[in-house]
Amino acid sequence: MALMRALQKRSAGPGLELCEVDVPKIGPNQVLVKIEVAAICGTDLHIYNWDTWSANRLHPPVIIGHEFAGRIVQVGKNVTGLTEGMLVTAEGHFTCGRCYYCRTGQGHICDDVKILGVDTDGIFAEYAVIDAGNVWPLPEGFDPGVGAVHDPLGNAFHAASAHCLLGKSVIVTGCGPIGLFCIAIARHSGAKLIIASDTNEYRRNLARQVGADYVVNGGDEELETVVREATGIGADVLLEMSGSSRALRSGLRALRKGGAASLLGIFSDDVSIDLDAVIFKQLTLYGINGRRMFDTWYQMKAALEGGLDIRPVITHKFKLEEYAEAMELMNSGRCGKVLLIP
Ligand code: NAD
Ligand code: ZN
Repeated sequence: MALMRALQKRSAGPGLELCEVDVPKIGPNQVLVKIEVAAICGTDLHIYNWDTWSANRLHPPVIIGHEFAGRIVQVGKNVTGLTEGMLVTAEGHFTCGRCYYCRTGQGHICDDVKILGVDTDGIFAEYAVIDAGNVWPLPEGFDPGVGAVHDPLGNAFHAASAHCLLGKSVIVTGCGPIGLFCIAIARHSGAKLIIASDTNEYRRNLARQVGADYVVNGGDEELETVVREATGIGADVLLEMSGSSRALRSGLRALRKGGAASLLGIFSDDVSIDLDAVIFKQLTLYGINGRRMFDTWYQMKAALEGGLDIRPVITHKFKLEEYAEAMELMNSGRCGKVLLIP
């Protein structure tokens, strides 16, 4: 039995372990992928830190990680259209295919979703098993780092695509990787004006690099004042990417009448907002979960082929064995997207 190195959560509690485990076996409808580049998601950091969510959700031992690009090295006997050697990434949500939502084209809100690297063994390893239906082929020669961040980039696309951004003024609250992707997408989609906010200076600098016109400190400066001065009446669209109730409230206040917001950031506590303002300003709020399968993926492909450049968001690269350093860097917030190379 061949062995591989993998980052496993072996027991309930903080940290991870670099282990030698068996290379996993594929089923008839799966492929085996040799991972070239993995990317660390906020979810992986939660699991590393072992927060309440992780403690309730994970059943160790499990290999974590779900953002990757790699090459297919083995193809299950029922799989068609995928071949050995293909460069691929994948949708990390495995849907049941049977529930009301799956059967009405809304697999992203499936009732019985299994998440790669959370509910099943993931990709912080040399090899991983992926359901063939989730595989997303990448063009030969594609930057594997960009390939590895399709999952969070897709979150940003899903949030942005709820609106027509052409000629619009757009607020992005929270400039973590997903907020930064939103800024780049808004610029690429012809937004007139982009105002971004973050409490972290490192990330405010990245926001400028990916195309924000105004960048404010979500902590001190008043987002509303900047938006009002720049737009006169308030912004058309808010993309809430911080999970901060304070950012959400100031973002909603900075919207014009008839404006709309996509809410993707996840709040750790109950949030109170001024619903009267939502009513009297006639705002529209969209909850955004995951990526549409696979509309969002086709949008992403078209934009990347059409010149969308998200490479400035990818700031660091570590070897798999340097995972602790990578996780601590993520905890510090002095980074954009961080890659791990198995
Ligand atoms: P992240 O934690 O790297 O980024 C959040 C950013 O918000 C940080 O840079 C932080 O400094 C900033 N922030 C905090 N308080 C702020 C404030 N008051 N004003 C402005 N900015 C503030 O996270 P990420 O990986 O970019 O993901 C963004 C959010 O989306 C997270 O909340 C994450 O949990 C959530 N998420 C949701 C989905 C979904 O399907 N809905 C999927 C993935 C991630
Ligand atoms: Zn389902």
